[in-house]
Amino acid sequence: MRFASLTKRHALWLGFLAVLAPLALLLILQYRWLVKLDETSALAQKVHLDNYLATVAKDVRWTYEQAERALDLPSSLFTEEGQIEHVAHYFHKKAPQGVRRLFAVGFVGEKANYLHFFDPAAGCWTEPVWGDEERDIYFAAAPWSARAKKHVEIETPSLVVEEADSRHRILLYPITDEAEHVVGLTGMVLDEGFFLSQVLPAAFTRALPKFSEDEYVVTVRDRRGELVFSNASGKTVRAVREEVKRPFSLVFTDWTMGLASRHATAAEVAHRNFAVNVGLSALLAGVLLGGVLLALRTASRAVKLSTMKSDFVSNVSHELRTPLASIRVFGELLRLGRVESLDRAREYGEYIETESRRLTQLINNILDFSSIESGRKSYHFERADLAEVVAETLKTFEVRLRQSGFVIRFERPAAPLPPVSLDAGAIAQSLSNLLDNAVKYSNGGKEIAVKVERQGGWVVVAVVDQGVGIPRDEQRKIFDRFHRVSTGLIHDVKGSGLGLGIVRHIVEAHQGRVTVESKPGEGSTFSVWLPIDAAAAAAAASSGTLPEGATQNA
Ligand code: ADP
Repeated sequence: MRFASLTKRHALWLGFLAVLAPLALLLILQYRWLVKLDETSALAQKVHLDNYLATVAKDVRWTYEQAERALDLPSSLFTEEGQIEHVAHYFHKKAPQGVRRLFAVGFVGEKANYLHFFDPAAGCWTEPVWGDEERDIYFAAAPWSARAKKHVEIETPSLVVEEADSRHRILLYPITDEAEHVVGLTGMVLDEGFFLSQVLPAAFTRALPKFSEDEYVVTVRDRRGELVFSNASGKTVRAVREEVKRPFSLVFTDWTMGLASRHATAAEVAHRNFAVNVGLSALLAGVLLGGVLLALRTASRAVKLSTMKSDFVSNVSHELRTPLASIRVFGELLRLGRVESLDRAREYGEYIETESRRLTQLINNILDFSSIESGRKSYHFERADLAEVVAETLKTFEVRLRQSGFVIRFERPAAPLPPVSLDAGAIAQSLSNLLDNAVKYSNGGKEIAVKVERQGGWVVVAVVDQGVGIPRDEQRKIFDRFHRVSTGLIHDVKGSGLGLGIVRHIVEAHQGRVTVESKPGEGSTFSVWLPIDAAAAAAAASSGTLPEGATQNA
């Protein structure tokens, strides 16, 4: 039977592991997948932001590439004498916005290498006042003059940017003749203010949705890292960290654009998603595990109960068979007249009486258990003296105890007890069960003490034995139906596992408590506490009048 229950339990655990193992594997896989997703989504977010900056850079480049149209002038203006003056006409017509100054220089003829400066605001040539800017223009043009002298061929002229000094950003365009020789140079100095106030905002607005709605913080920093442009206040800019950076191409190449999410960085968003996902998975796993554990617990209880029931049936059969066998033997001896003396006949009669009492008690227990389980158990309370009820019960045990060599020490209360409301039959049955156990689990200790006394608002009857005792962790469980301590000597003692459950039910029906104090190997004391005044019972119980160290089963 025990083996069968062990196998059942093993099967349960195996089932549990069968659920747990794939669950754990699933969780590990999901965790790894989430970690990967976290990394990829952070990266994807970065790429996403970088794309915005790439678009802005492209837009800015395109804006300045338009300058080529204004600077690409007919070569005849530079080769024919006196024509260079007419460049002003073209500059006036084609000059783009955001240009601080235009200039032209021819490398052939009388006015070779003479720099002409054009003011787009005034729309005419101006006499230069030589300063830093004019000098930068001069140095930017000088190599082209050298190339012209050496008749260097330029196959496809294109814009050249000169921004060694970031204060004067110069765009140059070489003018070539049919022979692809450089004959002149046109150029312009860009207006940084216009770039910051017009070109950049327009480019960002085109590239970045919600640019103006403050979702992103845009920054542009110069080569020293100083902020030159942003759509946010200085405080906000200081509070965020650029998630992506990218330089401009063609012009303003020493400046770097930066982009940051105003509320959370890409990595933070990814981490938050990761945490939420991991949390959800853990919660789900927890719920699943909880469910499985609950199912396992229920199944394990069912297995335990079924084992206990099987044990119960086998134990009860044994309990019934043993007294019946004795009764039959002694009855036969009497019937056949094989009795030597009247004393012997009386002795056999006593055996028969004791065994029938045991049978009655067992059957009473079974019947009581059945009525308790079905909720049909009823009690008839009357005011009675507990000491008397105990004395009466002990009388019925006398013969059996004497036969088995037990000595009962009955300690009556010092003063008469106040009568308590009780069902005498039920209390007698509880006491019988306790005495029966004291005998069954005596382990050679032949003295049993039964004490009746008053303690505060309670009358207490205690059954003290010197038997096997009960381990601490079992002391609560023994009051459960069918529960039997499965360790130590108790293996050999048969029983139904119902006795203490019935005691508890009866005592609780009296508003009382049953407690146990026990040490393995030294003996046990079972005490039944009945309230003198049922109404005061609850108060007395909560005021902790029960003895310390006693296991209160309720
Ligand atoms: P049983 O028919 O098995 O005696 P009970 O409900 O009366 O059923 O007792 C439950 C279990 O409590 C017993 O199997 C035994 O292990 C333990 N027990 C009860 N009384 C004593 C005692 N006086 N000494 C030691 N163990 C006891």
